[in-house]
Amino acid sequence: TIGRQQSSDDGSFVNRMKNGGRQIVIFYGSQTGTGEELAGRLAKDAHRYGLKALVVDPEEVEIDEFPRIAEIENSLVILCMATYGEGDPTDNAQQFHEYLQSGDHELQGIRYAVFGLGNKTYEHYNEVGIYFDKRLEELGAERVFELGMGDDDGNLEEDFMRWREAFWPAVAAKFGWEANETDGSERQYRLEIVEGDVAHFKGEVGRLGSFEKQRPPFDLKNPYLATIAINKELHASLSDRSCRHIEFDITGARVRYEAGDHAAVFPTNCSQLVEELGKLLNADMNVVFRLINTDEESSKKHPFPCPCSYRTALTHYVDITSPIKSHVLKALAEYATDEAEKQRLLLLSTASEEGLKEYGRYIQKERRSIIDVLREFPSCKPPIDHVLELLPKLQARYYSISSSPKTDPGRVAVTAVVLRYGIGDRLIKGVCTNYLADKLPSEDPAAAPKIPIFVRKSTVRLPHRTTTPVIMIGPGTGFAPFRGFIQERAHQKEQGKEIGPMILYFGCRHRDHDYIYQDELEKYVNDGVLTELHVAFSRHSQEQKVYVQHKLWENRQTTWDLMEQGAHIYVCGDARNMARDVQAMFIKIAMELGGKTEEEATKFIKELERQKRYQADVWS
Ligand code: FAD
Repeated sequence: TIGRQQSSDDGSFVNRMKNGGRQIVIFYGSQTGTGEELAGRLAKDAHRYGLKALVVDPEEVEIDEFPRIAEIENSLVILCMATYGEGDPTDNAQQFHEYLQSGDHELQGIRYAVFGLGNKTYEHYNEVGIYFDKRLEELGAERVFELGMGDDDGNLEEDFMRWREAFWPAVAAKFGWEANETDGSERQYRLEIVEGDVAHFKGEVGRLGSFEKQRPPFDLKNPYLATIAINKELHASLSDRSCRHIEFDITGARVRYEAGDHAAVFPTNCSQLVEELGKLLNADMNVVFRLINTDEESSKKHPFPCPCSYRTALTHYVDITSPIKSHVLKALAEYATDEAEKQRLLLLSTASEEGLKEYGRYIQKERRSIIDVLREFPSCKPPIDHVLELLPKLQARYYSISSSPKTDPGRVAVTAVVLRYGIGDRLIKGVCTNYLADKLPSEDPAAAPKIPIFVRKSTVRLPHRTTTPVIMIGPGTGFAPFRGFIQERAHQKEQGKEIGPMILYFGCRHRDHDYIYQDELEKYVNDGVLTELHVAFSRHSQEQKVYVQHKLWENRQTTWDLMEQGAHIYVCGDARNMARDVQAMFIKIAMELGGKTEEEATKFIKELERQKRYQADVWS
């Protein structure tokens, strides 16, 4: 292959910048692909000023070289850094983060700007972006534009568009760069049609043929194909929603996990949508092709595994259902032959007040995907390869593992609410949960569905001592990891070990609809594994919505006593503000029963967090 190996870079990104005549380097910290995508879009923007940018995954370079960027005249560093979990850097930015934390690097002569990706429902909003922005300045680098912060709970796309719209003119003025005629919409990849009988990807994530010949270790780039052993409904027939209990068979796979870990699932897009998109694009879906990066210095030769067929690419590799991004709308506008459609697409992709407002309503709020847009703009017929270049990558979804290997090391269970809702007359279906919902076990091993998965270690763990009290707060699917915890302690009890108090606060809408795992929970209470079970029903009575935090308050005395005995507290779930409300309740309890001021109580809970005695695993 050409590209990285043949370029005279000797693995150094600074040399790659020098050899390629690049002044701009863009680092990304990305967990779900958005940070990487924004980095790529900024690199394209640079073309408008006749400049070339190098996009860098910090995990793939010698980060010690960072100070050497100053050797390049008039250079600019842009960072697109996502905050993950409890204010942590993404996996690929961890080394970079540690590098900046440790030692006193001399970063004089480096000029930089940071855009952070975060989510306001989390306590540590954009902490990583804020840290990089501050730390680089402390080490002597010069900030050339103010920190941008995107909120994934609001409208990250809009936040980014606003930042970038102000960013480029400001840095161009500072560096003396002038915009040229090109608008940055030129292609990044060239198309090559592959003829004849060539081995090609059929959905593998990394290595060609990895699904036929599986080789551990299994991870993000090499998932394990697990057979579905159980897939059953947990909600009662009265419920208008669906929640599945799914067990993957991992017998003999050398996949290890502990209660509290996450399972990642690689979904495929709904085949009906894939075929419809193929039709809207007038594509022959069986054609096998490659997309090849026109930038030979780039370490990323293809946007996704190539060669593959158009059908495979639309099924496995690109995201075709999330709200379409503004730069894709801009590219589509070029292909609309109807003038009114073209103007509307241009408006939707422009960072003007009106454009942003329309984008927010028509695309974001009403959730219009590439398919919806092509349906509603029939004169727009872009070539399929350009669409494939522009769409974000389809990402693996994470699920808290709802089992313990102590019960059965050959099984990994997840508990997932099937995402389905209507907007107008359109039915929106979550990609992964609907994909999983249909995958029913089969007696015939050849017919049994196999799902690419891997286990991601988490830091949420039961205390080492089996007697330490445990308080678990998990409404809805937030109960998932606690099922693993309870199984773990039930196993310890069976082994004759002494186990400490285990208290569960579970929440759901209605006793007769969505009280998942009710039988199991009641059995654990009878067996003395669960010492207390408190269930909050938010829609059971007409008068009052009862949530987990209310139940916690009702039991504040016991809660406080257990906290004083060293209890470990766990808060899990997907309820938007649940984690915040629960934490506020713990602060209130510490004030009321611990006699603390609000400030002292807040500090007290923070200290518990630091000692890992208060752990949250929440998602939105
Ligand atoms: P997608 O196709 O990804 O669609 C989801 C998107 O739809 C959301 O991002 C949101 O933007 C949008 N959306 C959702 N509802 C609405 C609505 N009513 N109106 C408008 N827009 C909406 N999920 C579980 O079910 N169980 C778990 O145990 C679990 N554990 C998790 C643990 C971690 C660490 C993380 C990060 C997530 C966890 N999740 C869990 C969430 C899970 O990863 C998926 O996000 C979820 O299953 C939806 O995936 P999907 O592909 O079906 O939906």
